[in-house]
Amino acid sequence: MAHMVVARVSSAPCKASGSRRSAVRAQSKAQQEADLRQTVAIVGAGIAGLASAVSLERQGFQCLVLERSETRREGGTAIALWKNAWRALDYLGVGDELRNGNHPELDSVELCAAEGGILKRFSFDECNGGPHEFRGVFRGELLRALESKLEQTEIRYGVGVERVTTTETGTGGVVLRTEGGEEMRCLAAVGSNGASSGLCGLPPTNYAGYRAIRGVANFEGEMPLPSSTVRQVLGRGMRAGMYPISDREVYWFVCFNGAEGDGPPMERALEAFRSWGHGVREVIEATAVEDMVASSIRDRWQSPLAPVGRGNLTLAGDALHPMTPNLGQGGCCALEDAVVLGRRLGGAAGGEGMAAALRSYEAERLRRTLKLTVRAGVMGSLLQIDNPLVTAARDAVVSRAFDPSSFLDHTSYDCREA
Ligand SMILES: Cc1cc2nc3c(=O)[nH]c(=O)nc-3n(C[C@H](O)[C@H](O)[C@H](O)COP(=O)(O)OP(=O)(O)OC[C@H]3O[C@@H](n4cnc5c(N)ncnc54)[C@H](O)[C@@H]3O)c2cc1C
Repeated sequence: MAHMVVARVSSAPCKASGSRRSAVRAQSKAQQEADLRQTVAIVGAGIAGLASAVSLERQGFQCLVLERSETRREGGTAIALWKNAWRALDYLGVGDELRNGNHPELDSVELCAAEGGILKRFSFDECNGGPHEFRGVFRGELLRALESKLEQTEIRYGVGVERVTTTETGTGGVVLRTEGGEEMRCLAAVGSNGASSGLCGLPPTNYAGYRAIRGVANFEGEMPLPSSTVRQVLGRGMRAGMYPISDREVYWFVCFNGAEGDGPPMERALEAFRSWGHGVREVIEATAVEDMVASSIRDRWQSPLAPVGRGNLTLAGDALHPMTPNLGQGGCCALEDAVVLGRRLGGAAGGEGMAAALRSYEAERLRRTLKLTVRAGVMGSLLQIDNPLVTAARDAVVSRAFDPSSFLDHTSYDCREA
């Protein structure tokens, strides 16, 4: 449970006179403003925002999370969490709770041809840097676990932030203006409000040329794939993937090429996948259309050399490094951001010290995430190729020459280490 202690309000005596009541109100307002000046405001209560709040609380910071949605997101599908994310979750104190949530640990990969058999099967043990750890968890469950760790942080739902202003050095903190017109002066602000965050004026994201539909299929009886396997099915300009997230649920996705915005309705987009084997038809049929989520796939190749934040304002998660989901790393990196942010700010006292710490945090994170963003983007382009000669050659290479030893190198990163 989040406790509402950021804007502490002194309790007024029951029978205060009118003038005493207004004096108490004035005093409590002044107290609230003074408290806010010591508070780090976090914009957005997604993975990046909640994880940042947990991490900063651990360093002794008072935080206030402002989330535009009226409630915490409970729905959504699942998210793949690799070893680098589990390290961050352990640091944040929620790793074991999520591990114990009946999510099977997966240990192997199958790459299949949409119009053929299994091209390649390998175990994570064949990848360098083991032991590896991979599980899928429900997004709502992850958010709930993070929120439950907050002891000193207030989360205000239904409050969108319109803009944040600050000075170059961060002296004087930041001023947030909410979409309701309220102004708050805080010590610092973290924009964790997703890929279309406009808080630091970064360029917009770029459409990657394909869209995705995701869902979670429920099976009463036998599941269409082994309980410990991640499966990808490769077609021409289309692909699908799936893995079990419990003993009766399978997370799945499909990706298909097309112009952004005017894509076909969900049902029609899925039609082409219904004839596929390898369990693709089964998972689609075992999912209600209203529970599926459609997304345009976008990214931005954000260089560590280009400026991001200013003064005491920074970004985290997709707001900082939007990447395509081809490595399953966007959310994992949002968790890493939170740990590094806490580590970097832990030593900063405020004013210029804090602004400098935020610039080093951004540089550290972008040095890591640019490589992942580029790799995920290139991988997505290759997997979405629709030329039949090229896809036949790709399948032959996967089948005969693919070496999995470096497949998981990027998950060995440990954000807890400086
Ligand atoms: C198809 C697909 C599959 C994916 N699969 C994986 C995977 O398997 N593994 C993985 O690690 N990642 C995956 N990702 C990426 C992952 O979903 C994102 O990286 C992650 O959700 C980013 O979290 P975030 O908190 O930065 O942003 P978001 O989840 O976008 O959260 C931002 C929050 O800010 C709020 N907000 C927005 N604007 C404002 C405002 N002005 N004021 C206040 N609040 C605001 C929003 O309501 C939202 O709650 C996938 C992405 C896609 C599209």
